[in-house]
Amino acid sequence: MRIIVQKFGGTSVSSPEARQLVVGKIIKAKQQGFAPVVVVSAMGRKGDHYATDTLIELARSTNKNIAARELDQIMCCGEMISAVVMAATLQSKGLEATMLTGGQAGVITDMNYNNARILKVDPSQILRLVKQGKIPIVCGFQGMSPEGELTTLGRGGSDTTASALGGALNAELIEIYTDVDGIMTADPRIVSNAKILDCISYGEVCQLAHQGAKVIHPRAVEIAMQKGIPLMVKSTFTDAEGTLITNINNGDTGGTAVTDRIATGVTYLANIAQIKVDILDTNDASFKVFKTMAESGISVDLINVHPGKIMFTVNEDVAEQAVIKLEKLGHKVEMVKDCAKVSVVGGGMREVPGVMASFVEALTMNNIQILQTVDSHTSISVLVRKTDMQKSVTALHEKFSLFN
Ligand code: ADP
Ligand code: MG
Repeated sequence: MRIIVQKFGGTSVSSPEARQLVVGKIIKAKQQGFAPVVVVSAMGRKGDHYATDTLIELARSTNKNIAARELDQIMCCGEMISAVVMAATLQSKGLEATMLTGGQAGVITDMNYNNARILKVDPSQILRLVKQGKIPIVCGFQGMSPEGELTTLGRGGSDTTASALGGALNAELIEIYTDVDGIMTADPRIVSNAKILDCISYGEVCQLAHQGAKVIHPRAVEIAMQKGIPLMVKSTFTDAEGTLITNINNGDTGGTAVTDRIATGVTYLANIAQIKVDILDTNDASFKVFKTMAESGISVDLINVHPGKIMFTVNEDVAEQAVIKLEKLGHKVEMVKDCAKVSVVGGGMREVPGVMASFVEALTMNNIQILQTVDSHTSISVLVRKTDMQKSVTALHEKFSLFN
């Protein structure tokens, strides 16, 4: 049996017209000889009736401190509504479709409400339906704990559901349908001449996603990579080919390199604060700084350690808390709010000389102040002021010839 997992995001299922297009994609997969297993997100985006954000707002407007457990119960409703409506749409076309909650589909998670992790997937119910020629319509973003508690997987969790099901079902392909034609060289909302990528490695897309590109959840990519299942990101609204995510050059480079391009994409993360700590040069002072952050559950990024000084970044919403903790250790602490991290990702920049020079040149030519940098074999990131974020993304996109 050739199973294909087809995941449809919020905008793809938000209107009757869009759902007709979804039906078309499912029928096409069947015609190609696949047995489709469908995963849906909640309908629409913030402000739409049954969107997840609308449900959260309803719950929080009643009690802003609503318990995580109850919040998860209401958050599960968005996908349930969406899956029922999608199943009904398919049934109205004479197709046999069965709606399944995450739990019914066998998605077993831990009990970490709002951000649960999938422990295992029991594919037996889905396989039973598929063997009967039925199309399972699975609620994305949700699972069930071994104790029977409903849980949600965190933002973008429907992508993770799709990959986890794909892995458990040994799918031939996982398709992620959304409102853009594929993975692009930058967020099209920021860079108008961003280009669709035909293909990209798992490693590169993981980095892009971790560094802010919200087009696919990094966890979904990791799961597909582990199982060696190709992912395809494409549009519900067009017939464009989309972007194939797979192991490109999977020889000694671990699947991260793409030989013919130095840079693959530019991405950004807003709402970051920079923290600079003056430390006395005792052996364990820097260790204590990071230990304190870890014990406070604050994740740190863009780390530079120098004699007498440590710089790193944190999410803006925990910045004040971080400063208080560090001052308690007796250090002089400076915080710069309203920063953004802008990154260029590319498997092909490995050992290519001059990439950092081009990177810095692009920013300085545009009078953008660099607050901090960090690089790896396959990415360079810079911290800039939030007001320079858009300009930085555009300048780097241009410099690395990523435009159309
Ligand atoms: P869905 O609801 O289908 O999951 P998302 O909003 O999660 O859709 O993801 C699609 C959006 O991701 C696009 O509308 C686009 O604005 C944004 N995006 C950010 N970075 C990129 C990128 N590099 N390539 C394509 N889209 C991107
Ligand atoms: Mg998404």
